[in-house]
Amino acid sequence: MSITTTAAAFEALYGAPPDGVWAAPGRVNLIGEYTDFNDGFVLPLALPHTTVAAVSRRDDGVLRLHSADAGGGIVQLSVDSPAPLSGGGWAAYPAGVVRALREAGHPVTGADVHLTSTVPTGAGLSSSAALEVAVALALDELFGLGLSRPELARLAQRAENAFVGVPCGVMDQMAAACAVAGHALHLDTRDLSYRQVPFDPAREGLRLLVVDTRVKHALGDGAYAERRAGCEAGARALGARALRDVSAVRLPEALARLTDATVRRYVRHVVTDNARVERTIALLDAGDVRAVGPVLTEGHASLRDDLRVSCPELDLVVGTAVAAGALGARMTGGGFGGSAVVLVDADRADAVATAVTGAFAGAGYAAPGIFPAVPSAGARRL
Ligand code: ADP
Ligand code: MG
Repeated sequence: MSITTTAAAFEALYGAPPDGVWAAPGRVNLIGEYTDFNDGFVLPLALPHTTVAAVSRRDDGVLRLHSADAGGGIVQLSVDSPAPLSGGGWAAYPAGVVRALREAGHPVTGADVHLTSTVPTGAGLSSSAALEVAVALALDELFGLGLSRPELARLAQRAENAFVGVPCGVMDQMAAACAVAGHALHLDTRDLSYRQVPFDPAREGLRLLVVDTRVKHALGDGAYAERRAGCEAGARALGARALRDVSAVRLPEALARLTDATVRRYVRHVVTDNARVERTIALLDAGDVRAVGPVLTEGHASLRDDLRVSCPELDLVVGTAVAAGALGARMTGGGFGGSAVVLVDADRADAVATAVTGAFAGAGYAAPGIFPAVPSAGARRL
């Protein structure tokens, strides 16, 4: 999405050019799923797909919002409106960012916002965090707030938790805010410390394919909250501050102490996936990128069998890709649809994509969207 087109669309809507244009990316998570609300590790990378926000500052308490990707015209709100927006509607995301900033004491006195995005929505690629972080960065600069990237990510997460009503962790917002091109982000979700881990599949003769199953995930439907509650119950039963503190080496002892079979499965997933993040990072640091493949496939089995957040379409992607010669594959994001990632030798990528598309046709599913994930930059002013 070019800066001039977005700025021109803003001017057509609001009658003057924007003060600036900002962008934030969607993401895929390489490994570490459902670990971010357990104080654990994740390893996301930013996509080239971005949400672009053209924004002007206002000082009269008025917030005007428009999205080229949502139906309808300009949504107008007051920054002082006390009731949180709820019950759906895309405007809750940017309005939530304004409210989270104001609640934290930042003097955001209004804005005109026009959004346009190339991040597919509801595909598990985090269009919501891209939108939140693009708007948060714009407001940070326009009002001179001087917030750090992790602070912006926390506020964007708070916007989604408190005002949209999605109990998401902080991974998506941190990826959108902090990613660096050519790297994956090793994030410790306990304290938001992070390290940029070099990850450039193309340089290794590899591709990381994203396969969008086109099955719309609905994280609000209770399954996510149920997993989260189960993980918290597991940590309580084990006397741990969070499941991140349960050692992978001593996992069998921990599991033996859990009486609830469902909680036991959830704990096993989180503890083993946390360990898989550490194994993946060790492999990337050692330059053995190909060996990451089987770790991904192992992670998928854990999400499918222990956490039970996969779906037939995601399982078909993983099974077909691995059978067609991929190094490994897993669902990414919240599951129940959305996308999978596939690590594959560059010269096998087309064959694997063809096999997955063929398997979808054979199963009577809509054709999947397949594209390479090129590790890209985090949020920035354009
Ligand atoms: P994901 O973040 O995986 O894409 P979510 O359900 O978390 O899926 O967020 C998708 C929602 O975010 C959309 O339904 C819409 O309300 C909002 N959204 C995302 N991008 C845009 C956009 N460009 N314009 C308007 N709303 C958007
Ligand atoms: Mg989202």
